[in-house]
Amino acid sequence: MKQKILNVDLTVNLEPRINFTQDIFQKKEIRGLTEELSRVAGYLWDRRWAERNAGNISVNITSFFSRKELDKLSSYPFLPLPREYPGLRRQLLLVTASGSRMRDLAREPLEGICLVYISDSSTAYHVVVPEKTGRDLMPTSELPTHLAIHEMLCRTEAKEKVLIHSHVTELIALTHNPDFRTSQSLTGILWKMHPEAVMFQPKGYGFVPHTIPGTEKIANLTARCFEQNPVVIWEKHGAMAIAKTISEAFDELDLAAKAAGIYLSCSRGGFEPEGLSNDEIAEIRQHYCL
Ligand SMILES: [Zn+2]
Repeated sequence: MKQKILNVDLTVNLEPRINFTQDIFQKKEIRGLTEELSRVAGYLWDRRWAERNAGNISVNITSFFSRKELDKLSSYPFLPLPREYPGLRRQLLLVTASGSRMRDLAREPLEGICLVYISDSSTAYHVVVPEKTGRDLMPTSELPTHLAIHEMLCRTEAKEKVLIHSHVTELIALTHNPDFRTSQSLTGILWKMHPEAVMFQPKGYGFVPHTIPGTEKIANLTARCFEQNPVVIWEKHGAMAIAKTISEAFDELDLAAKAAGIYLSCSRGGFEPEGLSNDEIAEIRQHYCL
């Protein structure tokens, strides 16, 4: 079956595409990944961090496929990207779809995910949708941020393959206090509130001042923060975490939320929490992190 698309030079053979894309979603690793995504989407909804269609998840799944398999995607129609992503050439990402709701992903993940395959030139992408969806899906509106971060992870040969963005209420609340609008001050208060924030985030927490979401500007600022910190907090908006697995990325957000929640509970109780002292934090760091 040959089809001319958009009257340009996109005459493609759609048959192998249909067969291969169905194979993708049947692959054991992808089935496992969508089950994990479904579980974590449920946690995000239960935590009330995912109102309406808030939040998005992406996973670099390139390593699950051979070069030959990925080649099958190269002749399909591509959409232009706003810039080059040289580090993402021929990379395949699983991404939650624009408008998808975490509560629905928890029930049926295949109805709210798509795959994004970056062209050899890295200036365009092709979207693969599960057949059972029965409708067109496009990737999250935060795609520029996901691409910028995955590109940085590829460039630095990082082990992290997963990125989660969620509206973590406790962390958003903290940034409504002008005292907590730097990486240093956020790290300071979160470490003071919970020893495990010191143990599991020894590099501290990143911070991006209020910036319009979905833009290249927030994408670049956030990617730069992730070079230093595995959790980045967006002022008055939410947080992002990178990790090796979807569950671990959720854990990073959950731990930060716990530490922020302790501070907020004390504040609601009408007293300023004492927090761990600098010496106590240093002792934990020496024991666990150095
Ligand atoms: Zn958001």
